[in-house]
Amino acid sequence: MSLAAPGRPVVTLVGAGPGDPDLLTLRAIRALRRATVALVDDLVDPGVLRYLRRSARVVPVGKRGGCASTPQAFIHKLMVAEAQRGERVVRLKGGDPFVFGRGGEECDALREAGIEVEIVSGLTAGIAGPAAIGLPVTDRRHAPGVALVTGHTKDGGSGPDWAALAQSRLTLVVYMGVAHAGDIARRLMDGGLPPQTPVAVVSAAHTASQRHGVATLDSLVAMVQDEGLTSPAVLVVGEVVRAAPAWAEAMALGALEQQGSQRA
Ligand code: SAH
Repeated sequence: MSLAAPGRPVVTLVGAGPGDPDLLTLRAIRALRRATVALVDDLVDPGVLRYLRRSARVVPVGKRGGCASTPQAFIHKLMVAEAQRGERVVRLKGGDPFVFGRGGEECDALREAGIEVEIVSGLTAGIAGPAAIGLPVTDRRHAPGVALVTGHTKDGGSGPDWAALAQSRLTLVVYMGVAHAGDIARRLMDGGLPPQTPVAVVSAAHTASQRHGVATLDSLVAMVQDEGLTSPAVLVVGEVVRAAPAWAEAMALGALEQQGSQRA
């Protein structure tokens, strides 16, 4: 499966999917079986590591919640050093390595050091997470497309243009957004999305702790708090949410009206 020339140092960026090891690709499993060193993010389900050889060295390099972090530059150096020593290095990431996974930055650093990079795509949480509750992120009856955006805009970087997204008619899938749900909802409503726009939140999708809730933009914060939904979670904003069984359930239970009347 390796595309690299024999003998040349290579690092494989592997997407582990959102949780359940059943969602690994065959290609990911093959890469894990060959690896002698694995640099592992903390969103990777521990069950995934069972596909590594027993002799493989596992190096946790997580950045949970942005606090106890391994600096990105250190990760780059480590990958380069291990590959140059002849190790078969796998860089294991939650979801897909090229969706909010810093995969692009890592590719640049590796290529600058003359190291070949292979990419093994994984199921991304923003698509597989909503699917876990029967929610399609596109459905031509509701939305002409989907935008995957970050809700974590604190790092000084320029965040999404929420007002433009509000006008886009796209389904919005927000990663790293649950802690900023109130701010995001407000910006989208300021940008013109109706307060009654449906929103779903899926937390820890495809893990034993999976939870979800549905709300409308103006009741989102209350729902997230009531349900105790925490990171990792994706928010799905848009009419497609009405297509999810979870929405029908909440309507049947009167949960959405109740949230509305609590606010009133
Ligand atoms: N590369 C990953 C995303 C990493 S950014 C991917 O493609 O899925 C981290 C964010 O991904 C989290 O804050 C959360 O928004 C989302 N996420 C990752 N795993 C998740 C899961 N199991 N359930 C819900 N959201 C998840």
